[in-house]
Amino acid sequence: MADAAPPASSPAPGSTPRDFIREIIEDDQRSGKHAGRVTTRFPPEPNGYLHIGHAKSICLNFGVALEYHGTCNLRFDDTNPLKEDVEYVESIQADVRWLGFDWEDRIFYASDYFGKLYEFGETLIRTGKAFVCDLSAEEVKKTRGTLTEPGKNSPFRDRSAEESLDLFRRMRAGEFPDGSRTLRAKIDMASPNINLRDPALFRIRKATHHRTGDAWCLYPMYDYAHAISDWIEEITHSLCTLEFEDHRPLYDWCLEALDLPNRPRQIEFARLNLTYTLLSKRKLLHLVTGGHVRGWDDPRMPTIAGLRRRGFTPEAIRDFCDRIGLAKRDSVVDVALLEHCLREDLNRRAPRFMGVLDPLRVVITNFPAGSVEELTAVNNPEDAAAGTRKVPFSREILIERDDFRDVPPPKYHRLSPGQEVRLRWGYIIRCEEVVKDPATGAIVELRATYDPATRGGDAPGRKVKGTIHWVSAAQALPAEVRLYDRLFVRSDPDEMEGVKDFLSNLNPDSLVVKTGCRVEPALAEKRPLEFFQLERIGYFTVDPDATTGGLVLNRSVSLRDTWARIEKKSREGA
Ligand code: ATP
Ligand code: MG
Repeated sequence: MADAAPPASSPAPGSTPRDFIREIIEDDQRSGKHAGRVTTRFPPEPNGYLHIGHAKSICLNFGVALEYHGTCNLRFDDTNPLKEDVEYVESIQADVRWLGFDWEDRIFYASDYFGKLYEFGETLIRTGKAFVCDLSAEEVKKTRGTLTEPGKNSPFRDRSAEESLDLFRRMRAGEFPDGSRTLRAKIDMASPNINLRDPALFRIRKATHHRTGDAWCLYPMYDYAHAISDWIEEITHSLCTLEFEDHRPLYDWCLEALDLPNRPRQIEFARLNLTYTLLSKRKLLHLVTGGHVRGWDDPRMPTIAGLRRRGFTPEAIRDFCDRIGLAKRDSVVDVALLEHCLREDLNRRAPRFMGVLDPLRVVITNFPAGSVEELTAVNNPEDAAAGTRKVPFSREILIERDDFRDVPPPKYHRLSPGQEVRLRWGYIIRCEEVVKDPATGAIVELRATYDPATRGGDAPGRKVKGTIHWVSAAQALPAEVRLYDRLFVRSDPDEMEGVKDFLSNLNPDSLVVKTGCRVEPALAEKRPLEFFQLERIGYFTVDPDATTGGLVLNRSVSLRDTWARIEKKSREGA
């Protein structure tokens, strides 16, 4: 399952860096900062599954480390025991690995640093840079001020370091209830940046942690834990998304207040937003717990696990992350680009097969009953090395119901009464008779003749415009086929004429299940996550739901490339 690691091509000397982050790194290398070393980290909080937005951050952090001969750590930012779980820790590791990245032995947990973080808390108290505050969360909120008004100093701000130290130790020992006290940084209640108005560094949470159990009831806050964890791991460039820009002064304050040498630098980039897609773990969790999807790995989910089950490849996701680039301002990427990257990858690599979603029986009346011929089919026209395979042909075949019209509209090049059509890799057939149910008038079967001189698609002396896919009825395998569409009907699922409820934007047709489909026998050996094309229908993979009863196929993406059309239009417009 693990794919080859992505290419780690270093930038050519003298070339222009690809983006502003690589520009900063190259400047630092020239000036000799951190002796030219590059160390990054990917710091997920294990409170949900990773999504395609995280893939952007993973590709960036591991990518720059590879390019500049540095290293990237995997660090679990596990400072909130109430929302975190080992299931998430495990899924995150599987997903990063599947994307093709390797942290070697550098897997870390913020919870490993709880001891050090606590010690540094004592140091800050001793040096007069932090104090224990007895205000409740409600009171802290009331005295914090607003964007236009300064906050008020806590009445506990000037208590002695000895008293704070004693209280801090007793907080750690579990003497006080949740929410009764915090350790707060002593910075500036009048700062225009609210993050600097004596922010909490530690809070009391009597909860069992998935790694440290009940060893701690005192938990560090994100900004403090993040800065110190970066420093402990000797991170050089701490890459995060724009919402942390206003937190950077606090990040820097933590490192300065402790007088730590060789400080990491936090750099922010725009997070990925995608049309028709929600990228918030909280909302994705809501979809899972509310039963709106089948789980975190539902193929409609934008999670890495969902995309994988849908049939996305790591190559396509990495290519996508490459193409969207890095910016300092938020924007929204068209989800059609993600689908386009998958089509491009699979067009090159996916072997082709035939399958019929909505079968209509065709009896070839001049083909001998009981006899089976083997036709030769090309596996991948884009890749000569993929070779050929045998496809059985017999007297009874199945075609797509939609490839026949009793009364054909103008320019209909598929099958209709008296007309000819080419069977892919096979013969030209002519429809001679339409058999209908006398009661309902529904078409139950076609009778056709084939021309033995047209084997393999030759059409001596005539024009046959249409080519359709088919399977031989006796040898075909039954399959359930799941067709997916966007999970939301609106390109911004969070917005709906004032109603802020993404659930009302769910697409009722995001999953269409087709049963009674038939596919060619060569697909019997396909396993989950293997990819292939069903000609004219799309790219597919086998769903792990498949039991001995029959194949279950997920359509990863259809063949119609809306992104290529968008690009063409914008070229024509230019
Ligand atoms: P969410 O908003 O989905 O809950 P998060 O930011 O809380 O995500 P973390 O586990 O903290 O999730 O994220 C780990 C890393 O991934 C962080 O550095 C974060 O900046 C980055 N990240 C999260 N979402 C995106 C996104 N949409 N685009 C790019 N990077 C992202
Ligand atoms: Mg976060």
